[in-house]
Amino acid sequence: MNTPVPVSFEFFPPKTDIGYDKLLTAHDELKIAQPEFFSVTYGAGGSTQERTINTVIELNSRGVPAAPHLSCIGSNRATVQALLEQYQAAGINRIVALRGDLPSGMRGTGGDFNHASDLVTFIKAEFADTFSIEVAAYPEMHPQANSFDQDVDHFVAKAKAGADSAITQYFYNINAYKHFVSEVRRRDCDIAIVPGIMPITNFTNLARFSDACGADIPRWMRQALQSCGDDVTRIQRIGLNFVVDLCQELIVAGAPKLHFYSMNQSAPTLAILAQLEGFKA
Ligand code: FAD
Repeated sequence: MNTPVPVSFEFFPPKTDIGYDKLLTAHDELKIAQPEFFSVTYGAGGSTQERTINTVIELNSRGVPAAPHLSCIGSNRATVQALLEQYQAAGINRIVALRGDLPSGMRGTGGDFNHASDLVTFIKAEFADTFSIEVAAYPEMHPQANSFDQDVDHFVAKAKAGADSAITQYFYNINAYKHFVSEVRRRDCDIAIVPGIMPITNFTNLARFSDACGADIPRWMRQALQSCGDDVTRIQRIGLNFVVDLCQELIVAGAPKLHFYSMNQSAPTLAILAQLEGFKA
């Protein structure tokens, strides 16, 4: 399968054996798109540490590179060093480096890292170029940021600390992406900024999740999806059209790659890819 731009796919570590089998099936089905890598998220405060490690090492042994997400807030240097050594020994060569968020019960527990830029600096200092480093970007501003400008300044500092590439929070407003990229370039930073794409399969979940992570669902889109009521097939058809158009416009706007939040399913992402111009089965 040829995709018009390189792609990567994100998974979360499943909690059950059934979930794990489903993830492996989705992985094998998504491999057909020849992704650059698969990434596996890391639960807040390290809550999924074992599952993330096991999943990423298993996926990495299946022919396509796998990259663990690693959040640093609340962790000390020795723990992060040990984890990175474990990944290095397993042949992992890419890390998604994040600050993360502490679960509410763990607030105020300290740790050696305050921001993702501290983690990037640490990885570079201790492991030089062993890992290609991905960081997070927020075209619609990180929800805790004081201002858009400050958030872009912090992002650029994180990039300049040694990140190789960035993956964005998902968004449905292409102007937010274009504006963010141009503000980063204005600060003399040429890091690749890869749009994170969230397929639309369930409006209620999407709306709840978007409110929590600060991703805006434009009014026109919200109304079109809401008007479908419980008609899941219609939501998915309309959602597919929205996201295909978004990806198409992003490619025209110069997005270097696309990163899909697969939610451990292959069908929604493959349906989007199949409709992109330049796609070949
Ligand atoms: P940072 O880059 O540190 O930024 C966080 C906030 O701090 C921003 O408001 C920024 O402006 C501010 N800031 C940064 N540097 C400074 C500074 N020097 N001084 C003052 N303020 C500063 N979460 C998980 O728990 N697990 C995951 O696997 C995971 N994967 C993700 C993948 C992607 C692609 C994205 C976009 C997000 C992911 N998240 C994940 C969510 C992420 O952990 C949260 O959004 C978290 O709140 C911020 O992490 P960050 O790495 O962007 O932090």
